[in-house]
Amino acid sequence: MADANTYIIMLYLHERLTYIKCDIIRRILSDYFNIDVLLVMGITDIDDKIIRRSIESEKDFETLSRHFESEFFADMNKLNIREPYLRCRVTDYIPQIIQFIERLIAKDDGYIAPDGSVYFNTSKYNKYGKLSTLVLDTVNDQNFIGKKSALDFALWKAAKENEPSWKSPWGYGRPGWHIECSAIASTVFGNSIDIHSGGIDLAFPHHENEEAQSCCYHDVDQWVNYWLHCGHLSLKGDVKMSKSLKNTISIQDYLENYSANNLRMLCLLSHYRNGIEFSDEVIQTAVSATKKLDNFINDCDNYVTGKFKTGEIDENLLYTTLHDTRSKVYSALADDFDTSKAMHAIINLVGIGNKMLHQDNVTSRSNNVSVIAAVSNYLSNILSKFGISRSTKSTVENRQIEDIIDHFLNFRTIVRIRALEQKPKDTILLKECDNVRKCLSTCGITVKDQQNDTSWSWKQ
Ligand SMILES: [Zn+2]
Repeated sequence: MADANTYIIMLYLHERLTYIKCDIIRRILSDYFNIDVLLVMGITDIDDKIIRRSIESEKDFETLSRHFESEFFADMNKLNIREPYLRCRVTDYIPQIIQFIERLIAKDDGYIAPDGSVYFNTSKYNKYGKLSTLVLDTVNDQNFIGKKSALDFALWKAAKENEPSWKSPWGYGRPGWHIECSAIASTVFGNSIDIHSGGIDLAFPHHENEEAQSCCYHDVDQWVNYWLHCGHLSLKGDVKMSKSLKNTISIQDYLENYSANNLRMLCLLSHYRNGIEFSDEVIQTAVSATKKLDNFINDCDNYVTGKFKTGEIDENLLYTTLHDTRSKVYSALADDFDTSKAMHAIINLVGIGNKMLHQDNVTSRSNNVSVIAAVSNYLSNILSKFGISRSTKSTVENRQIEDIIDHFLNFRTIVRIRALEQKPKDTILLKECDNVRKCLSTCGITVKDQQNDTSWSWKQ
């Protein structure tokens, strides 16, 4: 690694939720800890699955993989996941992959099988298994002939009929899965990577094999400094979601019911290494946490601008809690990105602030605007550093719309107070006021009625 201030992360196309978790970690490093993160993403545009789908659909593999790729990045965009610095397609790196394999063969770390495939020689590399406890039974040995050991894995796969292939010193073929990551990462970063991320299912054999061949290639004891393995999303009863099991939920399906912020909150509420068991209850917890934070920040902002007129703010207690939250969040994030602990501290702050803002029977406004402004500002900042987007409606047009809404709601407030003052209350007018509130809600505006006043905010 050339630049000590640059953290390097590799991650690969496997599962969407893993990417939200990785994006959170990337944002914490860059936006919270102020570290320049250089993120490269490897894109597998040729593998068994793509070849199979290409045969089934009678489309060439390039058209098909470009389609998957653009679908993937469209999803990433919807989930507010930042683009990598570089996207590297495997088929753009074939010469580098061949050169990588040639060097391994020259060092006797790889060998050529009779059919023209090339395998990595695991028995020569004495650190094999350092990332995982090996279970030999799990290694599928049946499809390969000419291997010296069941653990040896393909660096280069000899061409089969009708499959896309590239010319190599060992005949026509295509890269094995593991070698692509090592060769691309080594081309871009050299002989050391700070962070390599991916789903936990990739730890073995994929990452184990990447580490082994890269250490041999670069003659180093350690290639990746930190492996960040994210837990997966599963269904109740430990059933993993996977395309082959056909129990996946597409991002489109998710976003019909929940927002990108809700999904991000789901990830933030647990440790990234832990798996998430998907259930209505789990997602509802995330939805209500998102709502709670939104509502609180809106209430704070309305309090600061004088639109929210109740509450009794204990300035000292709130400043102390804010200070305490700041340091708890810092130590949690500094300890292996423990967002779960950090969110716990944040939600606690919201709970205490909420109680003060909604203190009953207080009609006069105390003068503690600054502490509420400080809390709101802190929360907005930290959430945006986690990638939770709050709509910034500060364009000229939006400000005009906000003025119109203000005028309209002031009028509604006068009508509502009049209706409440009548004896008996004017239920017809009150019902109309309620209807207006419901209509505005469908336009993305939340109207909150308090005793003699009304505040509003954009729905997030
Ligand atoms: Zn990989």
